Amino acid sequence: MNLSAVLLAVLLLALPGCENDPARVQTARLVVFGTLVDISAWDIGSERFDQAVSEVELRLRQIHEDLHAWHPGRLKEINQALASGESSPLNPEIEGLIAKSTRLFRQSGGLFNPAIGRLIAEWGFQSDNLPSGPPPSGAAVKVILDAHPEMTDLHLSGGRIESLNPEVQLDLGGFAKGYAVDEAIEILRSHGIINVICNAGGDLRVLGRHGKRAWHIGIRDPRGAGVIASIDAEGDQSVFTSGDYERYYIYDGKRYHHIIDPRSGYPATGARSVTVIATRSIVADAAATALFVAGPGNWPDIARSMGIDLVMMIDQDGAVEMSQNMVDRVHFGNEFKPAVTVY
Ligand code: AMP
Ligand code: MG
Repeated sequence: MNLSAVLLAVLLLALPGCENDPARVQTARLVVFGTLVDISAWDIGSERFDQAVSEVELRLRQIHEDLHAWHPGRLKEINQALASGESSPLNPEIEGLIAKSTRLFRQSGGLFNPAIGRLIAEWGFQSDNLPSGPPPSGAAVKVILDAHPEMTDLHLSGGRIESLNPEVQLDLGGFAKGYAVDEAIEILRSHGIINVICNAGGDLRVLGRHGKRAWHIGIRDPRGAGVIASIDAEGDQSVFTSGDYERYYIYDGKRYHHIIDPRSGYPATGARSVTVIATRSIVADAAATALFVAGPGNWPDIARSMGIDLVMMIDQDGAVEMSQNMVDRVHFGNEFKPAVTVY
């Protein structure tokens, strides 16, 4: 399929009534999680779809509130306790997420590190408004780095959490959207909806098929408004992208973005975007962030240890690196003819 056909397909998906057979596609758009969440389901009655979508909306709002790193909520309370060296009660959901993120931290060799909330705040990315610079001083970054905040500093027992390292602050932004999409899909599935796409601002999970074909997904150009490639997904698959274009500011001609390399304390260099396909969104989301940090040439080892075999990276020169299994999954538009290295 060429690029204009993909763009058309994306538009058709977004516009109820323009589908080939509109009666067979139900669509809903939610504004939640700081983004647009588009849900399209194939061959399902509108009553059942509407019920499921209302449940999804409530659940996503709850997750957003509980896991927000700087708005008042459960995670903020935990962070306040950790900062003052106290223990904090944990509900089973957050306990499960912390355990999961600790596993992902280990598998990623520490590159996916939700314990660096203090660094992310220092860079100004824990704010509803984008920072405009200047970047933090090297000394301020070094103080945090020298304390080595890591997920393994956290101790969970008897339904409580504490940290031996007061520099640990949790920021689950690297995989919260993935968790939310997984939860949305479970709710949809529990309503018997088995052919559906849940798309949260370009990061998504699909179940089943769009009628006789797979779901068509556009991959954004990290330096433009358009789509540079398409991926077909079906069955049960998540497609998540991390990019340096999502939250960033330019200061003195240099781009500072929101994905921080826990080794340097600075925004990760080397990649413009990383797209990962995996079954679960939470894993795809965490892996996209970790592989972005790993950078060109270094991501294959981390991908292997995270159990990920479908990866595409666009580097700072616009060249593409991808895993062998990704080659057949990605279709570039006619205008985009990148140099491609396959690992
Ligand atoms: P994503 O867009 O999924 O790559 O997530 C980026 C968000 O994850 C940032 O806004 C931070 O909240 C958080 N984050 C930044 N750097 C890291 C990192 N190295 N490990 C885990 N989370 C991170
Ligand atoms: Mg992520």
